[in-house]
Amino acid sequence: MPLADIAEADLVTRRGTFRTVAFRDPSDGNEHLALVYGDSGKPRDVLVRVHSECVTGDIFAAMRCECGDQLDAALNAIVREGAGVLVYLRGHEGRGIGLVAKVRTHVLQDDHGLDTVDSATVLGFPVDDRDFGPAARVLKYLGIRSVRLMSNNADKIRSLEAHGVEVSSRVPLLVQATDHNIRYLTAKRDRLGHDLPHLPAPPRLGTAGG
Ligand SMILES: [Zn+2]
Repeated sequence: MPLADIAEADLVTRRGTFRTVAFRDPSDGNEHLALVYGDSGKPRDVLVRVHSECVTGDIFAAMRCECGDQLDAALNAIVREGAGVLVYLRGHEGRGIGLVAKVRTHVLQDDHGLDTVDSATVLGFPVDDRDFGPAARVLKYLGIRSVRLMSNNADKIRSLEAHGVEVSSRVPLLVQATDHNIRYLTAKRDRLGHDLPHLPAPPRLGTAGG
């Protein structure tokens, strides 16, 4: 289904001037945002990041996940390249379970040592409930035929392709591991299949607090 409720304007940011394309998706009802930088001059192989909203990481620079760092790195890469698109998807907190539920998982992670997967499933939530259809629809609206996707997540590529986006290549988006995010990153690698070759070998001890 095509997008109908759309507004566009220029947005001057610290990184430069982007074209904002705000839209309400007809399927999920959420308001999403695409930030378009430069003019690639071609509809193919456009550098794209499809970023799931994470208030704690994106806005408040939480260090337990890598979302904020990935958002920064993706925007920097797009500006460095001179053209690209960042699609910011709302309603994707905690891989789609919502903000309150996500914070509940943090309690289980901090107090009981569960990882990002088990802390969701123990509470009865799906491991990943995100719909990437809105991203596919806005990329189509923008006339983009194929993308070089900045992601470490093969599932995201499969989902976008299922929605009709041609992913011509994947660009790794690796964030430095720290004491704060290592358990989260390790769980993403070992349990969700993310390609994170920069991480050290899995920790042998189940350290408390993750
Ligand atoms: Zn996050």
